[in-house]
Amino acid sequence: MKYVGAHVSASGGVFNAPMNAAKIGAKAFALFTKNQRQWEGKSLSKEDIDRFKAELEKAEILPKHVLPHDSYLINLGHPEVEAREKSLNAFLDEVKRCEALGLDKLNFHPGSHLKHISEEACLELISASMNEVLRKSEGVCLVVENTAGQGSNLGYKMEHLAYLMENAIDKERVGVCIDTCHLFTSGYDIRTPETYEQTMNKFGTIVGFKYLKGMHLNDSKPDLASRVDRHDSLGKGKLGLEPFSFIMNDTRMDDIPLILETIDESLWAEEIKLLYSLIH
Ligand SMILES: [Zn+2]
Ligand SMILES: [Zn+2]
Repeated sequence: MKYVGAHVSASGGVFNAPMNAAKIGAKAFALFTKNQRQWEGKSLSKEDIDRFKAELEKAEILPKHVLPHDSYLINLGHPEVEAREKSLNAFLDEVKRCEALGLDKLNFHPGSHLKHISEEACLELISASMNEVLRKSEGVCLVVENTAGQGSNLGYKMEHLAYLMENAIDKERVGVCIDTCHLFTSGYDIRTPETYEQTMNKFGTIVGFKYLKGMHLNDSKPDLASRVDRHDSLGKGKLGLEPFSFIMNDTRMDDIPLILETIDESLWAEEIKLLYSLIH
């Protein structure tokens, strides 16, 4: 079974997200559990939490099909100690919010070396940060996303993701989210049956499908290997519709949240229908 949804709004409160998902026919969704552009978030009250859980049930969406996304400000690989500490604390707080909401995953971007340290040193810092959070929390799986490799962001190579999985102190609580736009713009083609198989087999060999905990389904404005992160609506970008048909018919993507982060949210309901119609 496939569980498709979108990154829906949680404005007014996290408890609004499940209905925003249900309204567009989503069977999965992503959300920010706090304002993604601020360091501090209002803490969740018991009432917020109970209401979120009740709304989730009403929407008939399972907690495992919810893929919360962390704040854009967090950089677990920050070269400066104090800044990394700040990120680490904010990230731990987000993990605790997911725990409180009864959710079992948190999606995040690996981090950025800001051209101050080497990629290797930055990956070591990210891994150490992840391990510290694993030690201080329970139940939530840290789901790292592949990136386009824009600027000094790591995660644009499958080897980066593999390193973070291999060095985790609890391999049951780490995973990967593949973003199709980032995959393509970081240089992995998926536009034909052959290139799709090649890329996915590479993922299977280098990272391993047991770590695949979610996907972001986005078409791409920029070209293959451009290392630019700009999403497009499905079928309107450089990827076209075919790769999404491959995904919808690939059992390796069963039972995980498949999340649209496409640019025109007025199309999400249609895009979800379209994705399901691709199953043959
Ligand atoms: Zn994404
Ligand atoms: Zn992106």
